[in-house]
Amino acid sequence: HNFHEMELDDRILKAIAKLGWEAPTLIQEKAIPLLLEGKDVLVRARTGSGKTAAFAIPAIQRILNLKQTSTQQDIKALILAPSKELCNQICKVVKDLTIKCSREVKCVDIAPQEDLNVQRPLLVEKPDIIVATPSRCLQHILAGNLNLKNSLELLVIDEADLVFSFGYEAETKQLLEHLPNIYQAILASATLSEDVKSLKKIVLHNPVTLKL
Ligand code: AMP
Repeated sequence: HNFHEMELDDRILKAIAKLGWEAPTLIQEKAIPLLLEGKDVLVRARTGSGKTAAFAIPAIQRILNLKQTSTQQDIKALILAPSKELCNQICKVVKDLTIKCSREVKCVDIAPQEDLNVQRPLLVEKPDIIVATPSRCLQHILAGNLNLKNSLELLVIDEADLVFSFGYEAETKQLLEHLPNIYQAILASATLSEDVKSLKKIVLHNPVTLKL
């Protein structure tokens, strides 16, 4: 299988080519078609498997699709990760994959490296994708800087097992109350712990589970 069989936008394919990626990794091959169909997915995969692009590529594709019918600029995808380093890495992958459509698809990293007030202007511009830790995302919502209720289409929780073990459980659950009733969701985790299974029940609807 290759990326060209996945019905991806040319601009994504060009970015993938520029990265020198010749073929999808196993997880990408399994997850991307399911996510493009709109399914909720629980993925058990480790760092190094290519999981970031496995959720980033369909997210970018979905945003490009939405842009064909609507010109309204709003936050469409939220990617949560348990550390600021991981948020930085994810945002970098998204930027690499949107190098040919950087005007259409904007991604902002709001991990807690700066003051809330310093980050506020980034959110006023309503980037298509935001990457954040659960606590920082919730802080912005509670401060009135961020409203996801009307626009969010896609939620990703990366390293979901660590989100719990790093103590973000309560904040994640509170954050979920500020999301719309319906959205596509992806949980990625190295282990399928009891915590992840309980999060799965709250966040995912009829999910497909991929154990890789
Ligand atoms: P991740 O598991 O998302 O942290 O990705 C691990 C590494 O694999 C990163 O350095 C990616 O740039 C790289 N990578 C992701 N997908 C591919 C692919 N299809 N072909 C080659 N390298 C890839």
